Amino acid sequence: LTERLQNAMTKLRRKGKVSEADVREMMREVRLALLEADVNFKVVKEFVNKVSERAIGTEVLDSLSPGQQIIKIVNDELTELMGGETATINYSVKPPTVVMMVGLQGAGKTTTAGKIANYVRKNDNKRPLLVAADIYRPAAIQQLQTIGNQLDMPVFTLGDQVSPVEIAQKGIEEAVRTGRDLVLIDTAGRLHVDENLMTELSDIKKIAEPSEIFLVVDAMTGQDAVNVAKSFNEQLDVTGVVLTKLDGDTRGGAALSIRSVTGKPIKFVGQGEKLDALEPFHPDRMANRILGMGDMLTLIEKAQQDIDEKKAEEMAEKLRDNSFDFNDFIDQMDQVSNMGPLEDIIKMIPGMNNMPGLDQLQIDPKDTARMKAIVLSMTPKERENPDIISQSRRKRIAKGSGRPLVEVNRLIKQFNESKKMMNKMSNGNFQGMDNLFGN
Ligand code: GDP
Ligand code: MG
Repeated sequence: LTERLQNAMTKLRRKGKVSEADVREMMREVRLALLEADVNFKVVKEFVNKVSERAIGTEVLDSLSPGQQIIKIVNDELTELMGGETATINYSVKPPTVVMMVGLQGAGKTTTAGKIANYVRKNDNKRPLLVAADIYRPAAIQQLQTIGNQLDMPVFTLGDQVSPVEIAQKGIEEAVRTGRDLVLIDTAGRLHVDENLMTELSDIKKIAEPSEIFLVVDAMTGQDAVNVAKSFNEQLDVTGVVLTKLDGDTRGGAALSIRSVTGKPIKFVGQGEKLDALEPFHPDRMANRILGMGDMLTLIEKAQQDIDEKKAEEMAEKLRDNSFDFNDFIDQMDQVSNMGPLEDIIKMIPGMNNMPGLDQLQIDPKDTARMKAIVLSMTPKERENPDIISQSRRKRIAKGSGRPLVEVNRLIKQFNESKKMMNKMSNGNFQGMDNLFGN
């Protein structure tokens, strides 16, 4: 999560309903995060308005703070805006399916043609034919042939003296003749959107009747990518977008803008130069990337799944009236091992979410298992009334659990100390946290 977003979130800790002030404060940071991720400002504005409307007055989930709740809404809406589900290739009912790659020079058309061919052969059992229809860029044909060689896949070419339209047509005929069920047409690009290029692409489209026209966009170009996408889409009515070079240090905000401006789904993302560096586009992952918040969301999800908020409240209650016993102790151990660090569970206990020193609290899962073994060897009575655990009972517990007596003694001592400590904490005294559970 970007630091500022994080800070804004920490400030909003009260529970209940999300207030207008909460939303306003968070949205200021969300807006910045989106702009920093290169999302078009118009898109940002619309988006922020929409999310604000939805967020104000929402109930805050018990296990979240208002800040987390707003971020969750932001993330859900971002995901939705980018298409919600992962989209796939539309195959023609009458093979061969024709796919046209279009885009500016250097965007990654040729490479992506190879990647898609590789992908559909592996995942959808297709038999692709690569067609070299870029006759302008020096060595473009050779580049596609090299890719074909690497993939052990046929490449159709008529050299650079035949028109791209004719190459496309003959390529499709070749596919029919040789039983290839997918034709990938690699077309030429320019450094800028230009009339001649568009005319040529329109002509190829007319002849080839492609099922898909994939606009290949370099994610590193940020804002420019949006304008490029807009004009290609207006001229060719593309069917989908492939975002390349996401392995670079871009937040990928272009994805959001492109989707929003063209209304066309992003189908794949390129994440490297190698021919297997292609993945279907996952809107939810991209949303996380744009907000820079992968960890935060996992944590929120964990909190929703693993923590029984009511239980945490019961626990706090027990701590307050001093009836916390060994049953609660292993309950808590279980939750801790489900959740990971102890700090997360403590944060869920009302009133404890802002405690200093929380991040230093960690429990080794092996320790947890050992402690649990010991507690499980206690009788129910002993668990409820730890005070009755005499020396002879301790010996019996040690034998039963297969742990040394010193360990049993230590656990009981820790339990008593933790109980004291947590009792203090739940009454608002946070000192001595380091000793909790003997850490
Ligand atoms: P075209 O002009 O649109 O055909 O673009 P190319 O396919 O020739 O790609 C231009 C450059 O971008 C090449 O050096 C590719 O290796 C590189 N490239 C393409 N896709 C990716 C990607 O997803 N990640 C990275 N790092 N490089 C890529
Ligand atoms: Mg090329």
